[in-house]
Amino acid sequence: MQVIRSITELKEKIRQVKQWGQTIGLVPTMGYLHEGHLSLVKGARDDCDFVVVSIYVNPIQFGVGEDFEEYPRDLTRDARLCEEENVDIIFSPSDSDMYPKGYATFVDVEILTEGLCGRNRPGHFRGVTTVVTKLFNLVEPDKAYFGQKDAQQALVLRKMSEDLNMNLELVIMPTVREPDGLAMSTRNHYLSEKEREAGLALYRSLTRAEELIEQGLRKSQEVISAVEQLINQEPLVEIEYVEIVDTKEMERLEELRGEILIALAVKIGKTRLIDNVIVEV
Ligand code: AMP
Repeated sequence: MQVIRSITELKEKIRQVKQWGQTIGLVPTMGYLHEGHLSLVKGARDDCDFVVVSIYVNPIQFGVGEDFEEYPRDLTRDARLCEEENVDIIFSPSDSDMYPKGYATFVDVEILTEGLCGRNRPGHFRGVTTVVTKLFNLVEPDKAYFGQKDAQQALVLRKMSEDLNMNLELVIMPTVREPDGLAMSTRNHYLSEKEREAGLALYRSLTRAEELIEQGLRKSQEVISAVEQLINQEPLVEIEYVEIVDTKEMERLEELRGEILIALAVKIGKTRLIDNVIVEV
């Protein structure tokens, strides 16, 4: 496995791999890898000849006052984990290579980025779609792997690749959870023991929502209220949003029908966590 830091070096390597006629799988991450990331890597390893994992804490997707500075970074540990998964290349560029002085081009997906996390994190998805476009251009993958954990991100990226006629397939992999249900996330490392315990309310409430729908509840607001009620039993958890939208246009639903996304974001202390489930009604 090679760790490549420079764009020039990466491009040269990709040129060779293409010449050999190999298919390329890309897993974009911000590093500090966990089993959720590694499930995407395994997917790529199964499907593709050559696997690239990008590790880059992308400054332009963080808002003012968010955790860009504190975000955990450990390339040595990540490299060991990737090596164990037979990754071919880790690409970990510098900020000055990705956004040199005078950088001026951004990719913006409209509408789908307005609700849910977009409402509370202005500019976040613009940062994500811009960096992912750059990574797609650099790595030229046949397939790129993303997690349902970040459901809105996955839908926004899918829309971007369709609208801009990008020549690759996006693969969305299921959310990997801890045995007690907490969705794996790098940000879980910020939680104290008590906060982590409180965080279990997220998946518990989403599971309850699934049960209620299974039992025949079809009014979106009633399901949302049940989720909010369960979460509010945990004094440490502050709800940012609980929403139910359709999985295509991401429009809020009154009546539940078709494939729906139940998504939520909360703050536990200073830590912002998200989770979601997709349900076929
Ligand atoms: P991040 O490093 O947080 O930007 O995540 C990189 C990729 O891993 C994104 O596509 C995430 O959706 C995905 N991911 C993060 N956590 C999980 C998880 N628990 N299960 C599956 N995929 C995940």
